[in-house]
Amino acid sequence: MSNSHPRGSSADSNSPVPFIDLVAQYGTIRAEVREAVDRCFETQTFILGDEVVQLEKEIAAYCDSEHAIGCASGTDALILALLAAGVQPGDEVITSPFTFFASAGAIHRIGAIPVLVDIEPDSFNLNPACVERAITNRTAAIMPVHIFGQCAEMEPLWRLAAAYDLPIIEDAAQAIGAEYRGRRAGVLGTIGCFSFFPTKNLGGAGDGGIMTTDDADLAARLKRLRVHGDLGGYNHVEVGFNSRLDALQAAVLRVKLRHLDKWTEGRAKNAARYEELIRAAGLDDVIQLPTVLPDRRHVFNQFTTRITGGRRASVIASMKEQQIGCAVYYPIPLHLQKCFAYLGYKQGDLPEAEQAASEVLSLPIYTELPAVHLERVVEGLCRALDRSTTLAFPVTTPVPQRKAA
Ligand SMILES: *Cc1c(COP(=O)(O)O)cnc(C)c1O
Repeated sequence: MSNSHPRGSSADSNSPVPFIDLVAQYGTIRAEVREAVDRCFETQTFILGDEVVQLEKEIAAYCDSEHAIGCASGTDALILALLAAGVQPGDEVITSPFTFFASAGAIHRIGAIPVLVDIEPDSFNLNPACVERAITNRTAAIMPVHIFGQCAEMEPLWRLAAAYDLPIIEDAAQAIGAEYRGRRAGVLGTIGCFSFFPTKNLGGAGDGGIMTTDDADLAARLKRLRVHGDLGGYNHVEVGFNSRLDALQAAVLRVKLRHLDKWTEGRAKNAARYEELIRAAGLDDVIQLPTVLPDRRHVFNQFTTRITGGRRASVIASMKEQQIGCAVYYPIPLHLQKCFAYLGYKQGDLPEAEQAASEVLSLPIYTELPAVHLERVVEGLCRALDRSTTLAFPVTTPVPQRKAA
């Protein structure tokens, strides 16, 4: 492997296209990460400590929140946030059925009841009108999920939260750096919850998570909940968890945070290029492109299209044969998961979520995706849909810096 091409594999128009390539990203930051990891070993501080305190300050600054509190995972961030916000067993929490399992899993895990309501078909995010209809006197919180890296429609949720005195817990696991009307995910509700799972836009070297809030009392409670409810000095005022962030994770994340905006720009550029090529190839009659709503900064944790006309299964089979990565997030909406059968939902209850689950297809979007690979993905889609691939793509926006070596 040459230094000029630090990627895990060489990229040409015939080589396989992985859905995600973290090796390529690591190649661009290896020296910085190694130095940060060495620092942790030299000090032998592994749990919380200065690296975590510094990361918390940097994330708070990045999200423009007063406080940030690290924890062991995005799932734990949701659990701790729900508890800190006062959600009790038997309470109802309204969230989306079209999300990663943890959103509703966290609600269930604290003994509360997930109330799943339908989504908006263009953004795949919670439909505020459905949220309003689901509010009862047992509702204790609203949990919007900024799915795929685009913020949910917040203004109507703010009105509902104010009218019914409800906290908003943002599941911002996929949305670090995303914006709604110029404000970042994490400060659009009472508590924001982020995940550092390696495939998130800011991913660690293992599990990790963080919570953001402007409320000093909530911040103090979140801080003690992650260490068994200890106020300090083994003074346990409530029973909490062991959910601490490792110093090693924080050290690696601090390195990666410095690159995050550049990486986000790369994702957005790839998204724009996909749109251009998919339209140029005339595939947009079958492939519905992602909608970026006004007043948003979409950070494209996923580039999620819809394959309409019942053609998704055959497209996936063809892409697999062509060794081009693609993925379905998510194939089964949460209201139809077996473990939530007790909630009493049935097929047809949440039609937009169900249709999305049957049509969505995410394409490789990572910053390091070589331009030739991105073109190969679109050519692959042409083949999968039995369209001509002989058409030469019009290069209206040359991207020389993204050419494979
Ligand atoms: C990844 C993710 C989580 C959970 O985060 P973990 O760090 O894996 O526990 C929660 N919600 C959403 C929407 C996610 O994408």
